Amino acid sequence: MGPPGWQLGEWPGMDDGWDEGAAVALGPCLLCRNVFAFDPERVCSFPWPPPDGPRAPICRPCIVGTVNPERERRGLATFPILPCAYPADDD
Ligand SMILES: [Zn+2]
Repeated sequence: MGPPGWQLGEWPGMDDGWDEGAAVALGPCLLCRNVFAFDPERVCSFPWPPPDGPRAPICRPCIVGTVNPERERRGLATFPILPCAYPADDD
């Protein structure tokens, strides 16, 4: 167990509450609660409640604007944004 808060992790396909066959899912961001489209197998997600709750998706603005800066501040590796993780953003 590391310090409380955001942990670096692999994020295997989210296995709770989502249609595993779907390439795109819609759901509320864990942080800002905005509903956004994402690929359940690629989206940045976080178990909520930690450490072993269902994996909740986190939207790109929160990763880029909130999570990664905080991780950088703590000297932790930032979350990569995987290709197609946020289909609506990929033009
Ligand atoms: Zn968000």
